[in-house]
Amino acid sequence: MQIAAAGLTAFVRDIFVGEGCTPEEAERIGRYLVAANLTGHDSHGVIRVPRYVGWLREGEVVAGQAPEVVSDSPSFALVDAHYGFGQTAGPFATQLGIAKARQNGVAIVALRHAGHLGRIGEWAEQAAAAGLVSVHFVNVAGSLLVAPYGSVDRRFSTAPFAAGFPVAGAEPVILDFATSAVAEGKVLVASQGGKPLPEGVLIEPDGRLSRDPATLFGPIEGTPERDSRKGAGAIRAFGEHKGSGLALMCELLAGALTGSGTSGPGPKRFCNGMLSVYLTPEAFGSQDAVAAETRTYLDFFKGARAASPDGEVLLPGEPERRTRAQRLSEGVPLPDPVWATLIAAGRPHGLDGETYRG
Ligand code: NAD
Repeated sequence: MQIAAAGLTAFVRDIFVGEGCTPEEAERIGRYLVAANLTGHDSHGVIRVPRYVGWLREGEVVAGQAPEVVSDSPSFALVDAHYGFGQTAGPFATQLGIAKARQNGVAIVALRHAGHLGRIGEWAEQAAAAGLVSVHFVNVAGSLLVAPYGSVDRRFSTAPFAAGFPVAGAEPVILDFATSAVAEGKVLVASQGGKPLPEGVLIEPDGRLSRDPATLFGPIEGTPERDSRKGAGAIRAFGEHKGSGLALMCELLAGALTGSGTSGPGPKRFCNGMLSVYLTPEAFGSQDAVAAETRTYLDFFKGARAASPDGEVLLPGEPERRTRAQRLSEGVPLPDPVWATLIAAGRPHGLDGETYRG
């Protein structure tokens, strides 16, 4: 099925109002989840609604929680989200980093104990829209999913990394990925009838490579609910020893340094930690020189010959922009099982999902 972004946002908002969120917070949840769908990252879109509702009801994430600045200096802040929604803590931390960097040239913001922050590229996009370069290291406490290079045992979360670089007079470069071979959400999408996984992104306890979501979730039964604790295997880290090393640094920077907690060992309360660096190009000298070198280099980059006749060399961020333009005009496509979970989430609040399809 296909649904316009505005109707989908309103439906998700109303579900979370029904679950006890303020209209403002519920609107942010809807807006950021649908924004992820618009970029094509369905793994971080509205497919998450049942899980967010579950977390809210179990007290794992707390509605209406105000992020607290627990340590503050002109170019540094440590923010504790106190397990509030990532859709509230994420924009708060990002706007704080932007404001501090504008004042002081550079800023570091550490965010701990945030509910799921969703698509991390969102925060890099917000910084880039304000003219700032940004780098984000993220981890997920309470979410052991990924085997380090050379191992079959889970030791990392999917620990995403993102960076944004504004380009004068053009769209920014936005790099944003999980340090796992695939994000957990992509395994979730594949297990619910969405895009199948590439070969060899999962690993069984005996070292066999796999693309079967059951490796992560255990036997896939008739229900859309998935629990990654039920699978015996793991997702592999991307990029062999290099990606595995970057995942380790995300755990240390976003989990250990921020005080948010690393992914393991032992049971932990689910939360995202994020260490973000914000830089104003002006702090590096002539803004014109930065802009000119960036433009020249990106033209050189884009001028690289494609490896195949129908291929194309893309900048990070380009695929998301293209998908966003397409989905804004045509609507957000959702697999029927995902739409069914939204309809079910709306029912207890007297919401008829079909009415949001316009
Ligand atoms: P991915 O593998 O789709 O990679 C996306 C990145 O690669 C983007 O920067 C994109 O612009 C770039 N890209 C894609 N195709 C390209 C091409 N042909 N040429 C050049 N660049 C290209 O991403 P992923 O690893 O599946 O991650 C998906 C999302 O999951 C991300 O938004 C990430 O932030 C999010 N995530 C969030 C959490 C969390 O705890 N909040 C955890 C893990 C992942």
